[in-house]
Amino acid sequence: MNGIIELLLVVTVIGLMMARRASRYLWTGVLGAGLIYWIVFHHPAAMAELVAWVLYVPLAALLTLTPLRRRSITQPLLTAYRRVMPAMSDTERAALEAGTVWWEADLFTGQPDWQRLRGFPAPRLNPEEQAFIDGPVEELCGMIDDWEITEELRDLTPETWDYMKRRGFFGMIIPRRYGGLEFSANAHSLVVLKVASVSISAGVTVMVPNSLGPAKLLLSYGTEAQKDYYLPRLANGTDIPCFALTGPEAGSDAASMPDTGVVCRQTHDGKADVLGIRLNWEKRYITLGPVATLLGLAFHLYDPDHLIGEKEDIGITLALIPTNTPGIEIGSRHFPMNQSFMNGPNRGKDVFIPMDRVIGGQERVGMGWRMLMNCLSDGRAISLPALSTAAGKKMSRAVGAYAAVRKQFRLPIGKFEGISEVLARIVGNTYVMNAARGFTTAAIDSGEDPSVASAIVKYHLTERMRVVVNDAMDILGGCGISMGPRNFVARGYEALPIGITVEGANILTRNLIIFGQGATRCHPYLYREMQAADQNDVAAFDAALCSHASHIMSLIARSLFHGLSGGRLQGAPVGGTRGRHYRRLARLCLAFAVTTEMALLSLGGSLKRKESLSGRLGDVLSLLYLGSAVLKHHHDHGEPDDELPLLEWACTDLQFTIQERLHEVFDNLPNRFVAALTRLMTFPLGRPCKRPRDAHGHSVAELVLSPGAVRERLTQGMYLPADANAPLARLDDALEKAIAAEPALRTLRRAMQEGTLPRGDPEACIDSGQSTGVITEQEAAGIRAAIAARRIVIQVDEFPPEYLTKEHAAWSSSRTAGKADQSM
Ligand SMILES: Cc1cc2nc3c(=O)[nH]c(=O)nc-3n(C[C@H](O)[C@H](O)[C@H](O)COP(=O)(O)OP(=O)(O)OC[C@H]3O[C@@H](n4cnc5c(N)ncnc54)[C@H](O)[C@@H]3O)c2cc1C
Repeated sequence: MNGIIELLLVVTVIGLMMARRASRYLWTGVLGAGLIYWIVFHHPAAMAELVAWVLYVPLAALLTLTPLRRRSITQPLLTAYRRVMPAMSDTERAALEAGTVWWEADLFTGQPDWQRLRGFPAPRLNPEEQAFIDGPVEELCGMIDDWEITEELRDLTPETWDYMKRRGFFGMIIPRRYGGLEFSANAHSLVVLKVASVSISAGVTVMVPNSLGPAKLLLSYGTEAQKDYYLPRLANGTDIPCFALTGPEAGSDAASMPDTGVVCRQTHDGKADVLGIRLNWEKRYITLGPVATLLGLAFHLYDPDHLIGEKEDIGITLALIPTNTPGIEIGSRHFPMNQSFMNGPNRGKDVFIPMDRVIGGQERVGMGWRMLMNCLSDGRAISLPALSTAAGKKMSRAVGAYAAVRKQFRLPIGKFEGISEVLARIVGNTYVMNAARGFTTAAIDSGEDPSVASAIVKYHLTERMRVVVNDAMDILGGCGISMGPRNFVARGYEALPIGITVEGANILTRNLIIFGQGATRCHPYLYREMQAADQNDVAAFDAALCSHASHIMSLIARSLFHGLSGGRLQGAPVGGTRGRHYRRLARLCLAFAVTTEMALLSLGGSLKRKESLSGRLGDVLSLLYLGSAVLKHHHDHGEPDDELPLLEWACTDLQFTIQERLHEVFDNLPNRFVAALTRLMTFPLGRPCKRPRDAHGHSVAELVLSPGAVRERLTQGMYLPADANAPLARLDDALEKAIAAEPALRTLRRAMQEGTLPRGDPEACIDSGQSTGVITEQEAAGIRAAIAARRIVIQVDEFPPEYLTKEHAAWSSSRTAGKADQSM
């Protein structure tokens, strides 16, 4: 019995010391005291006592005598570390070091501070931003006919271009002193969201000048003269910018671009011997390129004649070039997935630019890659997440309404469990996307430039958009497939691969960037160790290593404890269901931190090449981020009870997926012993997280199957057309009429069950119901109105055969927006 108590005591003391990160001196003292206790009270054999001292004394010396430890342990480890760690190229270093670390770093500690999370500012708009969204953005959305843009004009209308320029849509990130709108990230995101909810082509056209490109680069790195000249022109649309990085040989690996600039002197604008750069390039896929007047160009600069210094290979450099400069070939268009935003190739042959066209001037030559990486993240965190959220909102609202009014087997299809499950995925994912969008833009607005978070939201929101739009297609059936002005989903469906590919193609972003950059930048000790190793600084390496070791021990102790207690003793800022989700997420966060350590310990630098493992660990980090965003979003909304089904679905789905991804990591870690150990330390009692229950899914789907406050909040920010003939307005109308007709239909059904009316479809006996007094005239009119509204929204467009063949132009010019519907 005494033995058991002693064992429990030893386990408790060791566990507490590990969890609380006891100092090296405390470990030395407690281990020494334990040894003496053992000798005094248990009288071990002399040999055992000798072995214990032989183990204890060097251990105590290593723990307490820093110079000894550094010489005998740390220095050899540092040498080995420097040998095995893969060398980092300058471009990799620039990418890794870009931006700031934010909440992602809390997640890496395995101990997220929920009070800190809840204390972050919520996304906000100032009155001017709100007025712009309610005014010019609303007006712009009303001007856009996506079918006209994508099918007939293959371009925005001249009025739309003009309006966008005049009202400052291209200068949202430009400060007011240069004539721009100087919007917050949240406002910028909400403008893109609203426009993209009407038309992807228009959304992309607004996105690009405000994302990574000339304006952003000038603001961060331009000379005063460059800013004073270009920013006002970009703000008012005098100059249309594009940014050309990608070429035929340099896509994802853009740093390998073969485009060159050579420093030279030549006559320019009548002046002899002007110092400048002779450029040759071939770029493609450049958005706004075909209509751009100002080309931002990335190229590799060389100085073979040493005109500006000792270095011959100067490196990637960025310049701004008017597109009418001699030698530039620009204007041809690509045709990206039937969208009609401007996108095309451009080439330059022996194009000469004076040195002052380099962004930031001559002193910034060779710094282009770092400049790009530093400017990449906030654009990536704003535009594509906004576009993806727009898709989610639109699908939730429109497909929910469609599922409520479309009847098959005499029932609205939304009542079938199969549809309800898919609809719940649309709605739940929209909730997650909306939360992550706001969470991240609010971070940018509070001064962060979170590079890992930007990769997370870019990847996960575009992927969720893919899920949501595909699901929408399945629910809409033929209505989603038949193209035409009535179809509100097909162009978005076609556009899915664009979001997936641009601003860091998704496979690369998932497998290489999120965890790769996350582990390096956000891990509490890894970067310190890498820097110390880089500088061969044994003292700094020793300090980082000791802290890292105690961090790992703490993680293991806490993970085992919370694993065995089911996370019930983990802290949460609130109680009830909400508290359960905080606790679960904290536990999974701990499991992630332990798994990360074990993967790093067992694979070291080679983890970088294990893209599948890195991708899964990146998924876990990302899902923890999304889960935090959901909790924060709910908190910012005042934790309303009517949102609980969404919170429940989103958190449960995220937690289950995190758990499964972690198990996929265990299944694939090459060292099977480490894998088994990690599984044991993180999930000692098996898999506690389950998928969302069917009932949860159905309550989530219900939220969009009828009008209501949650539906309005969920879809807030998307454009709701003022034109009653627009497909979305008709769906809303049909939904309201269907819901209004429900009680009368129920009365008819009841009368059928009671035998007052013959059994059958209640919609088929409106007249008899009315004549027998089962329903009133007004109720009968309500049912008829609902049927008529439904008839409109279930229609698809029909085209004369010629339209789809040669005489397309003649047909399309004869129709105007909305006319096709009026012919019904
Ligand atoms: C509509 C559109 C607009 C664009 N606008 C612009 C613009 O304005 N300016 C500009 O400069 N560029 C622009 N781009 C280019 C865009 O950034 C590139 O398409 C993107 O970088 C990917 O390059 P790629 O298409 O050549 O694909 P590739 O680089 O050939 O990649 C093919 C696949 O390989 C994957 N892959 C590559 N390397 C790895 C790796 N190490 N590990 C795992 N997977 C990997 C990628 O994820 C991708 O799935 C645009 C592209 C499109 C389609």
